[in-house]
Amino acid sequence: MTSRDGFQWTPETGLAQGVPSIGVISPSTKISSSPEKYDVIVVGGGYSGLTATRDLTVAGLRVLLVEARDRIGGRSWSSNIGGYPFEMGGTWVHWGQPHVWREISRYNMRTELEESFDFSRGVNHFQLRTTQGTSIMSHDEEDAILAAGLEKFVNVDGDMGRKVIPYAHDAFHVPEARRYDGMSAQDRVNAIALSLTPNERASLESFVLLCSCGTLETTSFFEFLHWWALCGYSYRGCMDYLISYKFKGGQSSFAIRFFQEALATGRLSYVFNAPVSSISDQGGEVTLTTRDGRQYTGARLVSTIPLNVLSSVSFDPPLSTQRATATNIGHVNQCVKVHAEVSSKDMRSWTGISYPFNKLIYAIGDGTTPSGNTHIVCFSGSTNHMHPEEDINETKKAVETMAPGNMDIKRLVFHNWSKDEFAKGAWFFSPPGLLSTSLDAMRARHGNVVFANSDWAIGWRSFIDGAIEEGTRAAMTVMEDLRPAPALRSYL
Ligand code: FAD
Repeated sequence: MTSRDGFQWTPETGLAQGVPSIGVISPSTKISSSPEKYDVIVVGGGYSGLTATRDLTVAGLRVLLVEARDRIGGRSWSSNIGGYPFEMGGTWVHWGQPHVWREISRYNMRTELEESFDFSRGVNHFQLRTTQGTSIMSHDEEDAILAAGLEKFVNVDGDMGRKVIPYAHDAFHVPEARRYDGMSAQDRVNAIALSLTPNERASLESFVLLCSCGTLETTSFFEFLHWWALCGYSYRGCMDYLISYKFKGGQSSFAIRFFQEALATGRLSYVFNAPVSSISDQGGEVTLTTRDGRQYTGARLVSTIPLNVLSSVSFDPPLSTQRATATNIGHVNQCVKVHAEVSSKDMRSWTGISYPFNKLIYAIGDGTTPSGNTHIVCFSGSTNHMHPEEDINETKKAVETMAPGNMDIKRLVFHNWSKDEFAKGAWFFSPPGLLSTSLDAMRARHGNVVFANSDWAIGWRSFIDGAIEEGTRAAMTVMEDLRPAPALRSYL
């Protein structure tokens, strides 16, 4: 099945919108013809919504899943082109991410991961292109430069950030951590600038921008420290957790398991291609209205609508002032992720940074396609932002500039997350001040409406793991409401 989402370009076909994905659901609606009142309506079929839907149906509740797109997965989905999965959004997972690993175990997918990096053959080097020129280095030298820059960046306490964030899943445990949320990445770079070599500075800034996809000024230094703590306070941990292990069959091969398990209970109804325009909580029940006027009612509603698009849905009663303010501020991640299939097999072991002059900043060899070409994945964000489909020649030039002479492009694949009306950005990354003022408000329930999204998870916020954490939390909240556990004394 082909989704409306995503773009593909080849020299033969030119640019085409829509790419094939096993995450597309057909038929798009499974709903009873007579009006029905559901126990729970779940809005959004990303990992938060899929987890909540699965847990609630398995627990015996009748659930209606309402999704704006033609597919599941939200910001994590893969396109299977010629049998090869290109990850359009969320990609990498790790066994140190507790919620995601619980699900990988549940679906017996432990052996379905593979490594992105393969330095076993080919050019086997790191190419650093800055305003000062081009350096070709070994991957060990790449690691040494990045580790040195990052360690200077995070070492605010003489203990690599451990004193500021000793508990990564309770990041404000130490009150002083809030102070760092008032600081931007640019503030911190300025503070350590004299200690950085030019190559360390270019590599450090590129890596921070790879994480936030904002600008250095719009990136919360605290949130970067939080990522660092989650990754075990080390550069090696960052590489392992953030960018190393992916599903051989693509993210959609994982997401579909949640959906299928929910469906198998016989208690799941669903409607895709149904953007929600309003949600009204009358106290006894919640009614949702879609843009085309369909209405559905449930005893509870789980909204997994992301932070950056929450203001496009009207709520009655209105959202709290603090949540509305957070929604209007939004997160800053405007990631541009472009897959390029290039003819050189040797580029499989290549990594590169091209900064700050290029429209793409960071790229790695990520796989070998069925035609034997190398798959390169490239990233950038608000710094030098571009919309890849608007000018394919500009996009090709940005890929070629990463490694001049070595990027003979056979195919480009991408999803424009900035223009996506149901995401308006990629993974959550906080601007300074947002988390310390608004995290609790983003997480709070609103009458019979429970909010769940990776954007306000506690642990691996911004990650697939955080989405599953949130879907689990929402399902538990609703189950406690609708199926109160028997009082302990009844067992005595
Ligand atoms: P979403 O996936 O955004 O789900 C929300 C759902 O709500 C969507 O399906 C949306 O269509 C739907 N919706 C929105 N508005 C409406 C409406 N009005 N009516 C009905 N439905 C609506 N995470 C990792 O762990 N590893 C990675 O390597 C990684 N890389 C990433 C790269 C990119 C480019 C992107 C974009 C994300 C990446 N992430 C990564 C983050 C990860 O994808 C997300 O954190 C996670 O998928 C969010 O899941 P969610 O269910 O909380 O939100």
